[in-house]
Amino acid sequence: MRIETVAVHAGHAVDPTTGAVAPPIQLSTTFERNPDGSYRGGYSYSRSDNPTRRALEQAIAAVEGGVDAAAFGSGIAASAAVFQALRPGDHVIAPAEAYHGTGKLLRDICVPWGLQVAFVDMTDLAAVRAAVTRETKLLWAETPSNPQLKITDLAEVSRIAHDAGAACVVDNTWAPIVQRPLEQGADLVVHSTTKYIGGHSDVTGGAVVAREQSELWQRIRMTQGTGGAIPSPFDCWLVLRGVQTLPWRMRAHSENALQVATFLAAHPKVERVDYPGLPTHPNYAVASEQMRGGFSGMLSFHVRGGREAALAVTANVRIFTRATSLGGVESLIEHRASITGESPLTPQGLIRCSIGLEHPQDLIDDIAQALA
Ligand SMILES: *Cc1c(COP(=O)(O)O)cnc(C)c1O
Repeated sequence: MRIETVAVHAGHAVDPTTGAVAPPIQLSTTFERNPDGSYRGGYSYSRSDNPTRRALEQAIAAVEGGVDAAAFGSGIAASAAVFQALRPGDHVIAPAEAYHGTGKLLRDICVPWGLQVAFVDMTDLAAVRAAVTRETKLLWAETPSNPQLKITDLAEVSRIAHDAGAACVVDNTWAPIVQRPLEQGADLVVHSTTKYIGGHSDVTGGAVVAREQSELWQRIRMTQGTGGAIPSPFDCWLVLRGVQTLPWRMRAHSENALQVATFLAAHPKVERVDYPGLPTHPNYAVASEQMRGGFSGMLSFHVRGGREAALAVTANVRIFTRATSLGGVESLIEHRASITGESPLTPQGLIRCSIGLEHPQDLIDDIAQALA
């Protein structure tokens, strides 16, 4: 089956007791034992496992092409479970440009707890190779990067990981469907389902997907139930509904973003556009190899005139909403330096957009009038 069909049907079965086509939300925290002590459906207590969560996990595993998935209460909880599955003394190589919450999790929690972490530029493969030590157990990649949409070569990073006897984990939050890291050799994929998979800016969640059964995967699964950072059944249901339209939404996000990026690239007040779907992007060749059928809906652009000019654009948009996050049906716009502070990665002129599912011409007209 093709991905659109998988997304509609995975984790969905007509309810055998009622004939309901949409799956029920199973709120029960506890499940009855048979007289002999066994459990009818294999469920005993909802922290350990829950039917609505299981359905979501099946759906996410299916669309990512993995054998299993574990759902969490947030994207960061999913990432934390991966690091918690390591042992004190283990060494992790992580991107210097990782999602800020991932960097903070590693620095403020994992390092004090005993992990060793090297932050490197993952787009520089020689630097990645040089960072490997005898203790390296995990290479973490995130691509496209935030906020400059740099591209990490997933096949190469997976190869470096495997040569070192380590696992390769890819945070695929920014490009589900269009980018399939497990096919590039990654062992695990992490998602913040808060973003594209949920898709409607109304649910917080996360997931880890496994390419194959492994000891590391078993420890992550154990951490889910034992650490307990699980999503509620209702949140699972919302994310499961999001999965059904994900392939079509990703196609539309990608088409819209390419049109907006193309418009911006030709605008005299725009210095530079960071979008991996533009042939002028420095990693366009790698992006075209590992992103198929679209380049997702995230882009950044650099306005001439720095902070004042950029803030004037975000102040004057009418259709875009000034808000952080990404992946919803509505377009969002953000002056990143106001949130994260100025840095070489986040110059004052940089504006980040999550391109939604409005008509692309309306989005272009909106930015055009804001730039004017
Ligand atoms: C948002 C995000 C996360 C964290 O997800 P939460 O659901 O907010 O915990 C992790 N990685 C990336 C790339 C993200 O964009």
